[in-house]
Amino acid sequence: MEHEWKTIIEPFKIKSVEPLGLTTREERHNILETAHYNLFNIRAEKVLIDLLTDSGTGAMSAAQWGGIMVGDESYAGARSYYNFENEIKDLTGFAEVIPVHQGRAAEKILFTVIGGKGRYIIANSHFDTTRANVEFSGAAAVDFPVKEALDFDKPAPFKGNADVAAMERFIKEKGAKNIPLAVMTVTNNSLGGQPVSMENLKAVQELCRRHGIPMFLDCARFAENAYFIKLREKGYAQCPVREIAQEMFELADGTWMSAKKDALVNIGGFLALNNRDWSAKARQLLILTEGFNTYGGLAGRDLEAIAIGLREVLEESYLQYRIRSSAYLGEGLLKHGVPIINPPGGHGVYVNAKKFLPHIKPENFPAQALACALYLEGGIRSVEIGTLMFGKRDKNGRFQAAPMELVRLAIPRRVYTQSHIDYVIEVFGLLAKNPAGIKGLEVVEAPEILPHFTARLKPAEQAA
Ligand SMILES: *Cc1c(COP(=O)(O)O)cnc(C)c1O
Repeated sequence: MEHEWKTIIEPFKIKSVEPLGLTTREERHNILETAHYNLFNIRAEKVLIDLLTDSGTGAMSAAQWGGIMVGDESYAGARSYYNFENEIKDLTGFAEVIPVHQGRAAEKILFTVIGGKGRYIIANSHFDTTRANVEFSGAAAVDFPVKEALDFDKPAPFKGNADVAAMERFIKEKGAKNIPLAVMTVTNNSLGGQPVSMENLKAVQELCRRHGIPMFLDCARFAENAYFIKLREKGYAQCPVREIAQEMFELADGTWMSAKKDALVNIGGFLALNNRDWSAKARQLLILTEGFNTYGGLAGRDLEAIAIGLREVLEESYLQYRIRSSAYLGEGLLKHGVPIINPPGGHGVYVNAKKFLPHIKPENFPAQALACALYLEGGIRSVEIGTLMFGKRDKNGRFQAAPMELVRLAIPRRVYTQSHIDYVIEVFGLLAKNPAGIKGLEVVEAPEILPHFTARLKPAEQAA
């Protein structure tokens, strides 16, 4: 009998290393001041552990680097394109494969084709670039998360699911002819990287079929989602994850992907679908904005690395380590009494700053204050998902409280080891000893559009 080891090790060894940005607390104090308490303004070399995003920040394998060297850079019909196309067709089953430089380019093209005024796109939850592209086309993006998604403390296996009954009421109210598409985001990035069950995908597909609405997957983290199905959904424990992923795609009429996530590359994406009318229109726009059909804004070497990454990401030892390391971070934080979205998501952990720092009022940006404290104490960079990112402004430009105050700790793929994660947990342990010592912030200036990227802040005058 095989022994069952408790320790889940990184299923790789390291061939090429980069130094981390070591700084002193005093240096970080000054850096924060110069950066106007906005972590987007900090140079990466001054960051020790960078958990800002898992997008495009992963480490490629030796096989992928090998692919980079043999990439075919022909303008038309490159061998690397056919490797890319074959891999995506085999995985997703869709007939038309359109390469793009990243996920949002697929969204821009798709919603230019099918969006427009008076139309509604429905989803479990739109990711923010998806929402922006839907709205830019003139259409409305409407979310239907399940209720348990909004109860952060109470664990549930599939908090990424869509509320099918609410979706159905909406379809009846607005009329199916005004709804050109339903989107299932897997995993559900905006609500904590939570998975969607196969049962829910089937229910949404059945609803859409009945009303003649196509269903697409926004599949940036399809492999993580498939692995969660294997772990948590009845009947899938023995099923290879590749087959689970293929079953997810079989339910859909099309998909798009930010390859910067589960294709284990630093840039790239694709749109894949069966509808020839839509794909013909999409290809026109592709040539206008991205490039010819067989490269779509990418180098041949990028296409090669994506083809290899899409295979590697479905290796179960990788997924076991990936999901386990997010869970390990979440468990470590909970042990220190730090409230998180429970259970942890696939690509990271979301800390509930509203609950952790109840003494800081929303207008003093508790999640941003926590993100700054994490950097000051430990050199860790994270991202605020709260009032600074999503708060509406009143007519004097003042921020109104957003419904949630979260700090996202996104884990880059294959980049950090368990000791790095242990360190992050230790820094939280220090903060958890005296949360009241963390002070609020106030805005000095902030633009109207996407304020969190460039806003300038300072410590609040009132010790709030
Ligand atoms: C990252 C992401 C996108 C956008 O992709 P980019 O490559 O960043 O343009 C779209 N949807 C989801 C779910 C994502 O996570």
